[in-house]
Amino acid sequence: MELQFLGCGSAFNPLLGNTSSYIEIGRHLYLIDAGESVFYKLFKEEILKRNEEITIFITHMHGDHIGSLASIISYCYFVLRKKVSVVYPKDDLWKLLNLMGIASSIYDRLECYAFKNDEIKMRAISVKHADDISCYGYIMEWEGKKIYYSGDSYEIPQDIYKDFMAGNIDRIYQDTTEFKTSHLSHLPLEELEKCIPVNLRNKVFCIHFTTDFANKLKEKGFQYVKV
Ligand SMILES: [Zn+2]
Repeated sequence: MELQFLGCGSAFNPLLGNTSSYIEIGRHLYLIDAGESVFYKLFKEEILKRNEEITIFITHMHGDHIGSLASIISYCYFVLRKKVSVVYPKDDLWKLLNLMGIASSIYDRLECYAFKNDEIKMRAISVKHADDISCYGYIMEWEGKKIYYSGDSYEIPQDIYKDFMAGNIDRIYQDTTEFKTSHLSHLPLEELEKCIPVNLRNKVFCIHFTTDFANKLKEKGFQYVKV
């Protein structure tokens, strides 16, 4: 199964839904991020209902990435009788959930950089997004595929870039912004153009849009996620 998307917008474009993606393998849902619009989409499409196991990977704690996490956890526990696992490398998230009335007993905290089972391998990579918040991308491996998912980040980490150029990473999903501003938090398209050669751009999928620049991306040979 390919990575599916529930939304491809940034925090300031709720019409596109918050950027969040998932894979279902067997009846196990692997979800990346749970922004404000995500619970609504999961509920509407009965994705939580139809899966037996639910594992949620969080890239960082901005509202458009964790805004509905608390509701997802409590809905799964109290209504569906399912205990969600949440993967995040630091303990800040548990503290926040605790302040939001989500007891540690109703979900499983997996405070780690690496997650692995028979179906999937995920590894968190520290990325640069904002000075005051930690952010992680994820290397994901399943069904013989290996992809890099940037989370929110204004650069592609050097090791990831080298691996991609060497053909060891099949695909990149990259947070991309149309314009460059003095305050970097997402990767400007012009920077992406500088580092990705034209012949490899069909392996780079842009995500997390504030503006609609699909035509520009198409012209330059990049892929983009549409929901
Ligand atoms: Zn962010």
